[in-house]
Amino acid sequence: MSIETGKTSAKYRDRMIDVGQRRLLLSRISGSEQEQDLSEPPNLGGVGRVRHFMRIRNDRWVPNPLPIDPACARLSLPPSGELTAEVFQNAACNWRCWYCYVPFDLLAALPERSVWVTMDDLIASYAALSPRPPIVDLSGGQPELTPEWVLWTMEALQRRGLDREVYLWSDDNLSVDYYWTRLSRREREAIRGYRNYGRVGCFKGIDESSFAFNTGARGDDFGFQFELFRRYIAEGLDVYAYLTLVLPSTENLPERMSSFVDRLQVVDRMLPLRTVPLEVVPFSPVTPRLDVVRSDSLRTQYDVLRHWCAELDRRFSPAERVLPVHEVRWARN
Ligand code: SF4
Repeated sequence: MSIETGKTSAKYRDRMIDVGQRRLLLSRISGSEQEQDLSEPPNLGGVGRVRHFMRIRNDRWVPNPLPIDPACARLSLPPSGELTAEVFQNAACNWRCWYCYVPFDLLAALPERSVWVTMDDLIASYAALSPRPPIVDLSGGQPELTPEWVLWTMEALQRRGLDREVYLWSDDNLSVDYYWTRLSRREREAIRGYRNYGRVGCFKGIDESSFAFNTGARGDDFGFQFELFRRYIAEGLDVYAYLTLVLPSTENLPERMSSFVDRLQVVDRMLPLRTVPLEVVPFSPVTPRLDVVRSDSLRTQYDVLRHWCAELDRRFSPAERVLPVHEVRWARN
């Protein structure tokens, strides 16, 4: 049975936020199955971890400039192939992507797997780290189930005088419109006006069938991903996209890829150049979820990537293709 995104989102939001006390439920990474995949032990009481963002992981995949390039630009750092981030994960997600490297028990707002925090306390601990990663990454889970999280983190960084020397990055699976329905106009303006912030939304497949295959949600929710992205651009946020290319079938791939890039370009002609494909790698929690079709999709994602690159080469000039991701300006069609 497919996930009902609306109901599931509301349920988890209720379990994950205490607006009056400005508290949020974050995953306790220490002691979890995820811990064994980390290169460094969790920190900050077990709810933080240091992630090394790498531009190039191997020669089978395209470079990933996110969030390295926007962070370096905002922080006036020289271009780099690697940057560290302090990552926090909220304790629930409304979807269940089979390739998610987070164990599902860290996505269900379980009291025994999570901790209530305030961002003021957490940012105070982060400020005392040495060395301190230059990026704070709000990940999940699905951070946008509680869009207050971004705002409260911005305010905590400002109170510590860190807003100019830290780059804030947040993930979004493009599933809910809580940014508009749970935040006031004034709160959205505060987020829009915060200088060192970028957001990434993830397209989970190239069409309704691959989206449903990947997320467990209904194929109908795929179209909403594009609508949400359009609204974030209109809102004036510095927004980027990820894309996963694992498909249950590669039948009619050239036509399907072309149609997907058409849909991106309906949002904005330049959106494909702000979109970065992510290689799906089977971390520990993923292995037991694999079956024949999923395993096959891990193998064929490299071929799907070639079609994505060919589509971009066909639609953009060589000069456009080499633009740094943060210098791609919206065409606003
Ligand atoms: S949307 Fe993200 S956090 Fe949620 S299950 Fe999928 S990959 Fe995991």
